[in-house]
Amino acid sequence: MVEPWNWKCMRCGHDYVEEYDPKAAMTERSCPECRSNSVRPIESVAKAKAKS
Ligand SMILES: [Zn+2]
Repeated sequence: MVEPWNWKCMRCGHDYVEEYDPKAAMTERSCPECRSNSVRPIESVAKAKAKS
């Protein structure tokens, strides 16, 4: 299911939110700040909200 996810850039540390489907094939993504493709999905925004 596509939903908003928290993403983090492993190069510059930038955090951002982007639509993501964990079950779909991983597509090429790049950091909006530094254009590095070393970005990782951290957790879904819904899951992060449920914890707080
Ligand atoms: Zn970056």
